Amino acid sequence: MTELFCVQVALPVPLRQLFDYRLAPASAPATVGARIRVPFAGRELVGVIMAVKASGTVAPEKIKSAIELLDPEPVLPADIVQLLSWAADYYHCPIGEAIQAALPVLLRQGEPPEYQQDPHSRYWQLTPEGQGLPDQPLRKAPRQAELILYLREQGPSRWQDLKTAGFARDALKRLCERQLIEPTHAPRRQFSPQAALPLNEDQRLALDNIDLSKYNTYLLDGITGSGKTEVYLQAIARTLEANPLAQTLVLVPEIGLTPQTIRRFERRFDEDIVTLHSGLSDRERLNAWTKASDGSARIIIGTRSAIFTPLRHPSLIIVDEEHDGSFKQQDGFRYSARDLACLRAKNLGIPIILGSATPALESLYNARRQRYTQLKLRQRANQQAAPRIQIVDSNECAPDRSITDFSMNAIRRHLDAGNQVLVFLNRRGYAPTLQCYDCGSQVLCPNCDARLTLHQQPRHLHCHHCDYQSPALTRCSNCNSHKLLALGSGTERSEELLARELPGTDIIRIDRDSTRQKNSLENKLASIKSGGPCVLVGTQMIAKGHHFPDVTLAIILDVDSGLLSADFRGPERMGQLITQVAGRAGRAQKPGEVILQSRTPEHPLLNLLVQQDYQQFAEAILTEREITLMPPYSHLALLRADAPNAEQALHFLQGLRIFSDSLPHDPALQVLGPMPSLMEKRGQRFRYLIQLKSTSRGLLNQHLQILAHHISELKPHRNLRWSIDVDPQDMS
Ligand code: ADP
Ligand code: ZN
Ligand code: ZN
Repeated sequence: MTELFCVQVALPVPLRQLFDYRLAPASAPATVGARIRVPFAGRELVGVIMAVKASGTVAPEKIKSAIELLDPEPVLPADIVQLLSWAADYYHCPIGEAIQAALPVLLRQGEPPEYQQDPHSRYWQLTPEGQGLPDQPLRKAPRQAELILYLREQGPSRWQDLKTAGFARDALKRLCERQLIEPTHAPRRQFSPQAALPLNEDQRLALDNIDLSKYNTYLLDGITGSGKTEVYLQAIARTLEANPLAQTLVLVPEIGLTPQTIRRFERRFDEDIVTLHSGLSDRERLNAWTKASDGSARIIIGTRSAIFTPLRHPSLIIVDEEHDGSFKQQDGFRYSARDLACLRAKNLGIPIILGSATPALESLYNARRQRYTQLKLRQRANQQAAPRIQIVDSNECAPDRSITDFSMNAIRRHLDAGNQVLVFLNRRGYAPTLQCYDCGSQVLCPNCDARLTLHQQPRHLHCHHCDYQSPALTRCSNCNSHKLLALGSGTERSEELLARELPGTDIIRIDRDSTRQKNSLENKLASIKSGGPCVLVGTQMIAKGHHFPDVTLAIILDVDSGLLSADFRGPERMGQLITQVAGRAGRAQKPGEVILQSRTPEHPLLNLLVQQDYQQFAEAILTEREITLMPPYSHLALLRADAPNAEQALHFLQGLRIFSDSLPHDPALQVLGPMPSLMEKRGQRFRYLIQLKSTSRGLLNQHLQILAHHISELKPHRNLRWSIDVDPQDMS
């Protein structure tokens, strides 16, 4: 028997346990949150120490030796380890996988947690001579002058961004020769401070009500354009006044982290600001992470996974657009970054602000129960009138026309006035259905329970669920008729209709297909922002995050898809989308108009939204949820399984159901299923689910724990995939 250290390690493997290793009592002591390299099943893995049994008398032959301790200091501080342990429990995710999701790739690979210049990230910036040029520089070289002014305005920029902005290599080269600009790996920040705006009454009240000295959750419920961002900025400023080292973590939706957003923060604070998002290289991510972790960055702006960033002096958390679906991870470690942000703030004893023009029903419910402090901003900060919203009956439309005459006339009116129009349709491609006129059969995907979408650019059939593609048919495979009809409209067909009816008008389509090429989205956005009448037709991609000052009319073509959706959150999502799109219309000095095309124009919820506002609409849905006992009046979890063989997946869940029923019965827990998923077959796999619902969070969690444990003992077949989704956002 020898005296030795025994550590319990979380490893990136799909097993719900920690692994014991021994560590020679070496120079550096092992600490929780430090990484360690260990042998595992013939490989070497990097894990994180979750517990240290200081010294024990364990038979050395019983446990394996670790290879090396990688960190003398923990890379994950105690609060992050605590948050991850809690989340792994709550979301029933193996702890090793949860930790994996929180660590930057380079740390997972064993690299040191240090800031290092990225040789691949090269910026162009003004030299001191370049900065010293007069306001109207280089009159004889207008392109070079433009580039100087651009760099002065935007700060150090990558070649990629300069190219997008329309600059040529030549101008760059000339300026470099004249020593007016220079390449750099470590750009100098050129700070051009922008003063805080004098707050309006609502904003001042909201800001004064935020106690920055202790934990509390604030729901900043402010209509679009009411100046929520200004409130965030001034809250951060107050935090920094109280403590110059204070760090603020700002979470934004995936689509919300635009250069404009970042610039608003950079203009206000002469501080180190870092961003964390999927567009970074591994090195850039680690660098940003390091600056957050060692305390040198004051403001950390990031998407979902940034919630796990260690902070040396955490002082404030902000979640912008807190209702956004992208805060919930949809696979693997299925956490909600918004919910974890609330928990982290509580654990740290710091305030958190959740901001939205269309708060999630869960958040409104928490505000109503006084768990959150609701702060309302009800006036547009720039004194602008709210847009007028109308519902138009789309039943009168011919089946191959997606836009009613009423809408088309409105479009003409707005274009004639020199304005821009936004047409929103959440369906890409030409037509969602190809049907035989003679026998009525539809062209289906061979891998999914779904119809193939017809695309025309280029012409082919495409499954939007599994990506299956085939040449467009010319004859029905059932009866050989050549009369195949394209039914319904996607963005391509709407674009075609608009081009036909509005000859000479710029029609700009923005969807996943039209923006596949690098920079094509940026180019399209730039041409819209440069002004001039045009019609923008697009999917979800145009509904969020972008600011189009010249759009005065917004038309939503398919509100029914959300209102009549099989997902109980459908109406909530549609209400949020309509309100957000409406907020885009007429944001600048021009009044806006919104048209909703619906086949159920009498729908009470739709009318409530239009005649009242999102508040009243949300109240009505909350009442419905209360009656049907759906979230937030109950808690949900889904147990999903899928396999290439239907029997296999179904059998697995049936077995679980029987096991579940054999446990002591509690009437507060309701188990439904197994039942087929909304799309039973998808990508050659058959999908089923069990729904668990309870008014008691504890009961649900406990039940899931027992089920998860049972499943790991069952050791399901390799072909079968299963998952637990707690607080699912997507019910399919
Ligand atoms: P939100 O985030 O609520 O949609 P923003 O913060 O983007 O709103 O503000 C909308 C516009 O109003 C911005 O152009 C902003 O500069 C301006 N604004 C915000 N607060 C004020 C204020 N107190 N006075 C004048 N303009 C303001
Ligand atoms: Zn046919
Ligand atoms: Zn398919």
